[in-house]
Amino acid sequence: MSPDRTVQVLFSAPDVFYDSFFPVLTAALAEAQLPTVIRREMDPAEVDYLVFAPNDLITDFSGFVRARAALSIWAGVDRVLRNPTLTLPLARMVDPGQREGMVEYVVAHVLRHHVGMDRYILSSSGWNQVAPRLARQRRVAVLGLGELGGACARALSSLNFDVHGWSRRPKTLDGVTCHAGAEGLEAVLAGTAIVVCLLPTTPQTENLLNAETLARLAPGAVVINPGRGAVIDDAALIAALDDGHLGHATLDTFRIEPLPEDHPFRAHPKVTVSPHVASLVRAETAARVIAENICRGEAGQPFLHLVSRRDGY
Ligand code: NDP
Repeated sequence: MSPDRTVQVLFSAPDVFYDSFFPVLTAALAEAQLPTVIRREMDPAEVDYLVFAPNDLITDFSGFVRARAALSIWAGVDRVLRNPTLTLPLARMVDPGQREGMVEYVVAHVLRHHVGMDRYILSSSGWNQVAPRLARQRRVAVLGLGELGGACARALSSLNFDVHGWSRRPKTLDGVTCHAGAEGLEAVLAGTAIVVCLLPTTPQTENLLNAETLARLAPGAVVINPGRGAVIDDAALIAALDDGHLGHATLDTFRIEPLPEDHPFRAHPKVTVSPHVASLVRAETAARVIAENICRGEAGQPFLHLVSRRDGY
C-alpha cells in the first residue's frame, strides 16, 4: 500500500448496524495502522471496500468499479448472490459471537423438547413421574455442518446426544456420525427425534424438508429451523404436525420476513415462532472480521469467508 493512500470504505446498512459497528471497526483499523475513511454515502466509483447489509439498500452494484471486495455484515447472502450486477469478490460474515449465539439458541431449543419442559411449565396439574430419555438415547440430526451447524453438532455431542450431521461434501467431526450428499439424506433423517436445520437456501436445499423427507423422521419428531425458511415446505410441515407425525416445530426463519400476522404458523399450537433472532450479528466481534478482511485486501492476501458463486453459498 502506498504511504499516502487512504482506504475508502462505504458502510451501507441500517442505522442500528452503523452505530454498533462504527466504533469497533474504526478502532480495529486504527490498531492496524490503516488510514481509512468510513462513510455512509459515497460515489461508488471512489469506494475501495463496500461493507454492507445485503438487504436491498443497494440493488445495482455496477458502479463499484474500483472496489476490491463486497464485505457482508450478515452471514446469509443467498438473495444478493442472485444479483447479476454484483461481480466483486463477496465475503459473508463468519462471526465468533454469532456462532456462540447460535449454539445457545439450538442447545436451548433441543433441551426444551428433550427434557419435556413444556409438559411441566405449561401444565402444573397431575403428578405423572415419567423419566425422560437420556441424551444418549435421543437421536438429533443437524442438517448443514458449516460454521454454525458444525459448532451446534459439537455442542450437542458434548451433552451426550446421539448426533448425526449432514453436509454436501463428506466431513469428519468428533462425536458426530457424519453423512453427506443426496445419498446420505435418507440415513441422516431415519429415526431422528430432533432435526436442526442450518442449511443455506440453494436450488438443492429449497423444500428439502417436504412430505416425503419429514415422513422419515421418528414419530413425534421435532423440527428446529434457524437456517433458512425456504428449506421447509410450509404446507407439508403443517400437514405433518396436524396428522400427529411431528410433535413440534420451532421456526426462526421464514420464506417471507417479517412473518405475516395471518400466517398459519403464528396460531398453530404445535409451532413456536421467533423473529429471526436465533443469532444476530455481534458488532464487537463481527466488526473485527470486517477489519481483518480490509487489511488482507490491502496486503494482497486472500479474503476470508469468500462465497462460492458456483455452490450458491
Ligand atoms: P455455511 O455456509 O458455513 O454452512 C452451510 C452448510 O450447509 C455446509 O455444511 C454445507 O455443506 C451444507 N450444505 C449446503 N448445501 C448442501 C446440500 N445441497 N446438501 C447437503 N449439505 C449442504 O453456513 P453457516 O453455518 O454460516 O450458516 C447456516 C445457515 O444459518 C445459513 O442459511 C445462514 O443464513 C443461517 N443463519 C441464520 C441466523 C439466524 O439468526 N437465524 C444467523 C446466521 C446465519 P459443505 O460443508 O459440504 O459445504
